Amino acid sequence: MGDIFDIKTSEIKIKGLGEKSIQKLKKIGINTVGDLFYFFPRDYEDASIMRKISECREEEFTVIRGRVIKAELLRAKNRLSYFKCLITDETGIIEAIWFKMPYLKNTIKIDDEIILKGKIKREYGIKMVNPGFIKIKPEENENIENGIGVIYSLSGEITKKLIVAAVFAMLNKYENDIKEIIPQFIKEKYGFISRKDAFKKIHNPKSMEDVKSAKKYFAFEEIFLLELFIISKRGKNIQEEKIYEVEGKKELVKKFISEIGFVLTNAQKKVIKEIYNELNSGKIVNRLIQGDVGSGKTIVAIIILLYMVENGYQGVFMAPTEILAEQHYISMVDVLNAIGIKVEILTGSIKGIKKERVLAEIEQGLIDIVVGTHALIEESVKFKNLGFIVIDEQHRFGVKQRQRIRDKGVAANLAVMSATPIPRSLALTIYGDLDVSIIDELPPGRKEIKTKWLKTENEFMKMIKFIKKKICEGKQVYFVTPLIEESEKMELTSAQELYEKLEYNYFKEEKCAILHGRMSWSEKEEIMRAFKKGKIDILVSTTVIEVGVNVPNAVIMVIMNSERFGLAQLHQLRGRVGRGSDESYCFMVSYAKGDETIARLKVMEATTDGFKIAEEDLKLRKSGEIFGTKQSGISDLKMVDITRDLKIIKAAKESVEKYLEENDWDIKNKDLEYEMLRRYQKKEDKLGG
Ligand code: ADP
Ligand code: MG
Repeated sequence: MGDIFDIKTSEIKIKGLGEKSIQKLKKIGINTVGDLFYFFPRDYEDASIMRKISECREEEFTVIRGRVIKAELLRAKNRLSYFKCLITDETGIIEAIWFKMPYLKNTIKIDDEIILKGKIKREYGIKMVNPGFIKIKPEENENIENGIGVIYSLSGEITKKLIVAAVFAMLNKYENDIKEIIPQFIKEKYGFISRKDAFKKIHNPKSMEDVKSAKKYFAFEEIFLLELFIISKRGKNIQEEKIYEVEGKKELVKKFISEIGFVLTNAQKKVIKEIYNELNSGKIVNRLIQGDVGSGKTIVAIIILLYMVENGYQGVFMAPTEILAEQHYISMVDVLNAIGIKVEILTGSIKGIKKERVLAEIEQGLIDIVVGTHALIEESVKFKNLGFIVIDEQHRFGVKQRQRIRDKGVAANLAVMSATPIPRSLALTIYGDLDVSIIDELPPGRKEIKTKWLKTENEFMKMIKFIKKKICEGKQVYFVTPLIEESEKMELTSAQELYEKLEYNYFKEEKCAILHGRMSWSEKEEIMRAFKKGKIDILVSTTVIEVGVNVPNAVIMVIMNSERFGLAQLHQLRGRVGRGSDESYCFMVSYAKGDETIARLKVMEATTDGFKIAEEDLKLRKSGEIFGTKQSGISDLKMVDITRDLKIIKAAKESVEKYLEENDWDIKNKDLEYEMLRRYQKKEDKLGG
């Protein structure tokens, strides 16, 4: 008998389950014994008291037990076959009917003891239609009796009976082969039941207590396996010996900080310090820097890069869009050149001789810091001694891209930055392989962004007036439109239409410009520069400005068709304003009335705190859809509710770390490894790219 959870080898083969049934199971993705074991009931019905037949109430989910006194296969007028039994306990008789299951006549026979679970119907006496049933063999008499109805998600040709029969047969056959995969010390610490008991209790509970303890076990198992999958890989990375050395010079950094024109917040200082300490100790940095929009992550990144440069290494600053890369480049090039640091930009639109020169200079180590986009990942980009990588707005990059850029360095020190606020519970899960720093403080003087949902034309017109006034005061404005369709053509039209409407109808004197994904790089660059310099009053744009763009003088954000955006996106867009000390505004224009729209826009009106918004976002959506989490394995979580189960996630992470440390970062329990890979390995192959 092979290991039942080696899904590659364990085909489902049980007596009584025919080839046809097995094919049906395969159709819904149950190919192996392991799959079947993990096909858990979707829900339970608690009928903890078994009823006497005379006490059955109509429409109630009921469990009864009795003896079969009549069993016959019949044919209805429409030629449909059905199997009918009469069952009695000492109080009455109930009829049970099963449609399209003629083979039952070989299973249920006169004088059999049987448990029926189902809804009671009253029609010429009481009956159950297609009830679940369990035949009681004399030797099983005791333990099979229970009052909890299981409900499986059925689809295709799968009937409840088939699932129940298959699961029960499976439990009977393999019960003693179920291997424990959670280390004993962990189970003891948290009081989990054994895996074997958990399987029995989840499929065949005798009480709701059973269900609870089984779910508790499987929730932990699920998150434990995910964390193990993520963290065990990290283990290999940090086990290597010291591969780089930092002397700790800080002259240039100090000079730079004294010239930036503001004082770093304590939160910024704390994060910088955390990373310095790691660098000084020679540990490979692998860190997520989280901070709400506008919390000042860029400057933190620049300071870290500068520190590495000053100590003899090159640095990379990678951003997801050219606009953003350019912005970062502009914000650092002059200041850094002034202190003798060479900064260059490398994006997809840098080509030909210029590109060749940049590539050569990077390779020779003449360039200290390279800012760029995905173009940095290309094969042709080679470094002399890359020592630190910063990835901005990391959710835009896949895991593989992250890895590829790391492979170019002598020391793969990495900080990824995210303004997509993720609740801590999620961060711990998705980024189980990263350490997390949080910049939980905004620079001083920021005001709440006043946010209003405009529901009528009338309100829209009032807003236009208001905007005119603000432009007179010298302020700037964004108008953002959603992508109407996938096609870029549509994107163009919608932004274009809005642009024309604004330009000709409302803002004849003001200077309007349009920005969209279809423009060439130099066109976009020209517009962004002009906007930054204040030469444009109103920038109409698609979501290309969604992340990272920083123009403190722009204080009004208008989001057209707000219902088309998710919460995370709305928050990002709003984050384009409120970046200076002036009063800022966000107007969400939406005439839509859907419940979900209302909920979302209300959240936006109620708070500007990104972490609160993220929590709400989680509640409003299914976790799998959350920004940037698609590839994380988190969308496969079935037992754990990441919005509520923070405790269990923490416990799992700690347990995994302890387990790995005690086992020299080797997963010695092969059953554990099997199950981990079965669940998460396939997914990883699809990641990134
Ligand atoms: P984000 O975290 O969203 O990437 P940025 O790094 O773009 O935010 O910073 C937003 C703005 O805040 C920038 O104009 C930046 O210069 C400014 N800023 C950053 N840190 C501070 C600070 N400590 N005090 C004042 N302004 C700051
Ligand atoms: Mg940023």
